Amino acid sequence: MENRKCPDCEGELVKSKTYAYGETAYFWQKPWGKPWFKFAAIGGNLKLFPWACMGCGRVFFYFDEKEFEVVKMEYQKKRVGL
Ligand SMILES: [Zn+2]
Repeated sequence: MENRKCPDCEGELVKSKTYAYGETAYFWQKPWGKPWFKFAAIGGNLKLFPWACMGCGRVFFYFDEKEFEVVKMEYQKKRVGL
């Protein structure tokens, strides 16, 4: 179980059960062009999971951790121009 703290009040953040409900889904789209890996499992849109603070009621969005690792890698490669 992932643990996150609220950056405002240090309350405990609780991850939403799902990232989508009905036709509503939250995502973040990579601003850069075509993916480096044509056949990568992760396309241009990344799922965002809402996390709610049990201290102050704010909601924060976080990537799925595995997807984020891949995007972070792509971003770093892009920055160093590989
Ligand atoms: Zn809070």
